[in-house]
Amino acid sequence: MPIDFGIDRPLIDHHCHGVAPADLDQAQFEALMSESYRPCPPGTSQFDKPLGLVVRRFCAPLLDLEPLCSGADYVARRRELGAAEVNRRLLRACGLDQLLIDSGHRGDDIASVAEMADLADRPSREVVRIEAVAEEVARSGVSAADFPQAWADLLAERAEGAVGLKTVVAYRTTFNIDQSPPSQAEIQTGASRWFKSCEAAGRVRLDDVNVVRHGLWLAADICQEKSFPLQIHVGFGDPDIYMHACDPTHFTDYLRAMEEKGVACTLLHNYPFQREAAWLAEIFQNVYYDVGVILNFAGPQAPTILGEALEMGPFFKQLYSSDAFGLAELYYLGQLQFRQALQRHLDRWIGEGYCTARDADRIVAMIARDNAARIYPLPD
Ligand SMILES: [Zn+2]
Repeated sequence: MPIDFGIDRPLIDHHCHGVAPADLDQAQFEALMSESYRPCPPGTSQFDKPLGLVVRRFCAPLLDLEPLCSGADYVARRRELGAAEVNRRLLRACGLDQLLIDSGHRGDDIASVAEMADLADRPSREVVRIEAVAEEVARSGVSAADFPQAWADLLAERAEGAVGLKTVVAYRTTFNIDQSPPSQAEIQTGASRWFKSCEAAGRVRLDDVNVVRHGLWLAADICQEKSFPLQIHVGFGDPDIYMHACDPTHFTDYLRAMEEKGVACTLLHNYPFQREAAWLAEIFQNVYYDVGVILNFAGPQAPTILGEALEMGPFFKQLYSSDAFGLAELYYLGQLQFRQALQRHLDRWIGEGYCTARDADRIVAMIARDNAARIYPLPD
């Protein structure tokens, strides 16, 4: 008889994205099951991986299907019910306290923060992605000379309605960069260089190291002033990542500087660096971490990943996130995989006498909700 220690308590999903409001065909659904830009080889499917197994096993019953029905049957039933109904069923079955949504990635294809609050029937708040705001400013027709101040102004404005900022510096320059604040001259040189390269490339994508550094320090000041955490993408992501240089220990100088400024840094997903993230959280007062969407992608192996995250990190430093994007399935599975994996570990700890059910209850409460509630400025 497993001992009850509140594994079902409501979760703060501190890093997630909107879901696709459109009905998805097989190819569109499978594209959202992967961070790759390319389809699978002929005769194979995105269902042929750990994530596919857990979609079929755990999401199928919510769509009135048998567990482990085929991927094709799953997507067909999804279309039959319609995206709005599927999104509502899956999101409302998550047992969420609230959602903290990164609105800065492919915002046109997915539900807005307000729409997510409606679909999930839970309060939803915004986390502002600093690089997306820079790109919006650059597209507005501002000059390179005026860009740095215009970015600072718009970021401050956006922060007004938000509860945190996020950086994807790992995608844009890796962590292996000079992390000191750039001088005014360096900022100007960077802005001119970046504007020229955007013109030459015919697209706006912030990847100039001086401009990125400027953003990191603008964000630091806003976070300090407003008591926002700064979310930092780490590891796992799409093909833009140079994984070896996205080990968060490359970012130690910046993390240490944020500790001095009193800015909480939340390291997101972290795979395959969950151990490095847990160690950083152990030594730096301001560092928090999660394993987010990795528990979905690891499917039946999720307890291994969460087990590594639990090896050394303080319980008061770990957070829950689904990092769901596009598919409501990723919200549903995120919480289920988290609860099941955490229960598995805590059952063993209790069984082997490492903790009491009461200790386990406290550990779940901290990771599920209380840590996020402590570091984000959430309205009551
Ligand atoms: Zn994300």
